[in-house]
Amino acid sequence: MNIAEILTNSAAAFAERPAVCHGARTHLSYRALIGRARGVAHWLRRQGCPPGARVGLYMANCPDYFEFMFGAWFAGCAIVPINAKLHPKELGYILSNSGADVLVVTPDLAADARAIVSGQPVRVVEVGGPDHAAMIADGGDSGLARPAGVRPDDVAWLFYTSGTTGRPKGAMLSHRNLYNMTLSFLADIGPVDDRDAALHPAPLSHAAGLFSLAHFVRGAANVVPESGGFDPEEIVDLVNRFPGSSFFAAPTMVNRLIDSPAMARLKVENLDQIFYGGAPMYVEDLKAALARLGQRLWQVYGQGEAPCTITYLPPHMHMDTGDGRLEQRLASVGIARSGVSVRVVDEAGVDVPPGVNGEVIVTGDVVMAGYWNNPEATAQALRDGWLHTGDIGQFDEHGFLFLKDRSKDVIISGGSNIYPREVEEVLLQHPAVVEVSVVGRPHADWGEEVFAFVVPNAEGAVTAEQLDAHCIDNIARFKRPKAYRFMAALPKSNYGKILKTELRKLLDETSPRQRTCARGRT
Ligand code: AMP
Repeated sequence: MNIAEILTNSAAAFAERPAVCHGARTHLSYRALIGRARGVAHWLRRQGCPPGARVGLYMANCPDYFEFMFGAWFAGCAIVPINAKLHPKELGYILSNSGADVLVVTPDLAADARAIVSGQPVRVVEVGGPDHAAMIADGGDSGLARPAGVRPDDVAWLFYTSGTTGRPKGAMLSHRNLYNMTLSFLADIGPVDDRDAALHPAPLSHAAGLFSLAHFVRGAANVVPESGGFDPEEIVDLVNRFPGSSFFAAPTMVNRLIDSPAMARLKVENLDQIFYGGAPMYVEDLKAALARLGQRLWQVYGQGEAPCTITYLPPHMHMDTGDGRLEQRLASVGIARSGVSVRVVDEAGVDVPPGVNGEVIVTGDVVMAGYWNNPEATAQALRDGWLHTGDIGQFDEHGFLFLKDRSKDVIISGGSNIYPREVEEVLLQHPAVVEVSVVGRPHADWGEEVFAFVVPNAEGAVTAEQLDAHCIDNIARFKRPKAYRFMAALPKSNYGKILKTELRKLLDETSPRQRTCARGRT
């Protein structure tokens, strides 16, 4: 079944309900949204885009996003959402890798996009431009009343990975994947109905866009903030305006919200939940968020290759049940999602017992079919039907999964594995530490040594010696950072993930003389 049938059903049952809002204002009802989606689909057909053609969406978050998303699906095409903050060269790579015929752009990105595609057979459609106007004028009346027939395994969404290591790869998400993702959202998270609202302060090209489907299938509103991004003041206004609100947020966004003065105005009863994930949420930060928001935090752990998601920690598991395991649960990424099987295996692919680290592998109907045009990477990632996530983790006796790190981030020092996240959790407990990231620095004798990049709450608020003493009190000596570097901010990806690749480059620039905070080895 074509994933666009979601919209056909909702347009029948909830025709006059708001489907898309721009800030507090209704932008499109369900009736209007399906008309626009059909208009997009007709236009694609007239351009000669056959079912299966790729339609790139290089768009800042805007209310028009969804008509192009559903319109492409209506025509049986696959969408290729591209993060609006990518460099034009990265855009160029994704366009040529995906072989997109059409690229939809928001006006702010149009000039860059046109320069990149010049000379290539890619038709650029600008939001608000003449082609878009023609699609809207069509109104969905020129045929194609129902979405084109597709096979369940046809590609619906080419999800390009963040490319934190090497070139981005296009995870092929099929119509079946998206249906299963949507159904398991409703199964695990519970009811969404037409009185609810999904807010979208996070990029629609990533998890937020995927999560929108569960709201579309139930006739709820999808609200795009007018700023097109995450502004704590604005998000509080929107929550206050829309009862039954929920939104996806990277952990850094949750922290910014909690620290914002706007929190004083939040009508917390309007907030159903915040889905946080995509990067580690440290226990100290989580506790601060729980203190302000209560039972409204829903952790997700997933990948573009298995959206959205693999495991979950629902709100009630964030609460103290008197079993003495709260701290442990908060440090976990929760339990397996419905319909997903998760294992932790050693290098030979054999399951390891609880408490032992291994690679997290996953199977189920949310797992991608493979990487677009990349059989080598597909063979590496998908083995015997199991997705090898590249994440190192362990289960506890109760089925909770604990992520250690990406396998490539594990530090091997003197033959011992050190998981940066464990060291980061400890450093974050220090009151003067706001953000931290730990990486391995090559070392002649030890292979690697632990190096910490620290953002203090004020310049000079804490010294390397104080942090070292803090580590000695809390962690095995061999895991302590051997050197620190204090920074005003850490480099982050467009999805808010800390870029360890960039930090490692900084290490190369850090000569021994510059290591002001370095101290001797134990
Ligand atoms: P992406 O495909 O860009 O969403 O990145 C997926 C990766 O982000 C995963 O393989 C994990 O390494 C990391 N990640 C996602 N969710 C979480 C989480 N809840 N806690 C820790 N890391 C996470």
